[in-house]
Amino acid sequence: MMVTFSFTKRIRKRDSSVAKQKALQAIRGMNDCLPSETNIWQMVESVLRRVASNYGFAEIRMPIVESTALFKRGIGEVTDIVEKEMYTFDDLNGDSLTLRPEGTASCVRAGVQHGLLYNQEQRLWYMGPMFRHERPQKGRYRQFHQFGLEAFGIATPDIDAEIILLTARLWKELGINEFVTLELNSLGSNDERANYREALIAYLVEHEALLDDDSKRRMHTNPLRVLDSKNPQVQEALVNAPKLSDHFGEETQTHFDTLCARLDAAGISYVLNERLVRGLDYYNRTVFEWVTDTLGAQGTICAGGRYDGLVEQLGGKATPAFGFALGIERLVLMLTELDKVTNTRPQVDAYVVILGDDAQVTANKLAEQWRDQVPDIRLQCHCGGGNMKKQLKRADKSGAQIALILGDDEIAQEKVMVKYLRGQKEQESVEFTQVSSLLTELTQGL
Ligand code: ATP
Ligand code: MG
Repeated sequence: MMVTFSFTKRIRKRDSSVAKQKALQAIRGMNDCLPSETNIWQMVESVLRRVASNYGFAEIRMPIVESTALFKRGIGEVTDIVEKEMYTFDDLNGDSLTLRPEGTASCVRAGVQHGLLYNQEQRLWYMGPMFRHERPQKGRYRQFHQFGLEAFGIATPDIDAEIILLTARLWKELGINEFVTLELNSLGSNDERANYREALIAYLVEHEALLDDDSKRRMHTNPLRVLDSKNPQVQEALVNAPKLSDHFGEETQTHFDTLCARLDAAGISYVLNERLVRGLDYYNRTVFEWVTDTLGAQGTICAGGRYDGLVEQLGGKATPAFGFALGIERLVLMLTELDKVTNTRPQVDAYVVILGDDAQVTANKLAEQWRDQVPDIRLQCHCGGGNMKKQLKRADKSGAQIALILGDDEIAQEKVMVKYLRGQKEQESVEFTQVSSLLTELTQGL
């Protein structure tokens, strides 16, 4: 007892000193998702889940923290993410851990660790928070959420097409298909890219005077990244740069042509963008991005491609793979800005007004029955007492369509008084046994 007492006293003292300091705030770039926003998040998440399963993909859930080595090896040492964006720390054992900046490396690690990828196909998706220490701005945060999807074990371009079709379906279902453009490129095989790298470096060295510091720095470490520099002056210097596609062998060319033909046949339009190289090292052959001009600078909503070398690089047997990740915040922003938020069902459909102590007991019993009978109902029972006027005010504020009023008289007659809170309909007395059909109608939109 004594120990507990002195402990609470100590905590209290510390609390009061905290209170004098400035109010506690969330970490910059890490956002709360408030109840007014969770509606749209849930809508987006349910479309993502459903469409993934429409194409036969299964969910995988990975830890949020992994060994730092996984990302260094998986994403590449000279990428923006690994060079400057990771939340890395030593845990109490002295192990270097990192909050995951993306999902593919973890997904491959899990697949290899559990033998999911060995001589078999796997179609997986995941969704959850990712962490990057970037400069927070609209559409760019330090904790953000991705939905990602990966297919393992298929080398042919039919899976590239199937997954790009899946993404196109997402935009259609979310009602944003008119506002997004597909950009497509091929990065060739590792050998083709290595040959090209030499040619590109030679060109960049020749034009070094026209490059900015960032490009000069990348020129020797990751020259392909210079191609997607946002600096117009750098872009101008690149006008006559050698093309990666000139180094393609027959296999790469056929792979890409077949993919394009599939997309053409499916009626998916795309823009070929030779400058699209992606910021992660693991890609080869197909890369793609879906971009929009509705979000300003943060215009990429979804990005991915083929990464046939990663599984082996992370210790598995060589396994071809194709995947993408999309940013959920950017989708939510887009839907909000385009006014596409159609799900307006309020948090509560029906509100139970309870008058008197006896009614309280019966009301709970009835409410439980109604929830059993109409599993989709959003039924809120008034708590905290008060007269009819106060309770009806709460009912109104809850957004409910109807108030179900239960007093001693109603209970004696096994009826409930239904008051319609929206529109003109007169209040009416409804038998207990009829309430469930009324509630069912409510869930379907009265
Ligand atoms: P960007 O060029 O915008 O930095 P990226 O190439 O770093 O994007 P990926 O690693 O390919 O992005 O991640 C896939 C998607 O995740 C992006 O297209 C974007 O929608 C989203 N995303 C990436 N970083 C962030 C972030 N910091 N905040 C919000 N969304 C992000
Ligand atoms: Mg980035």
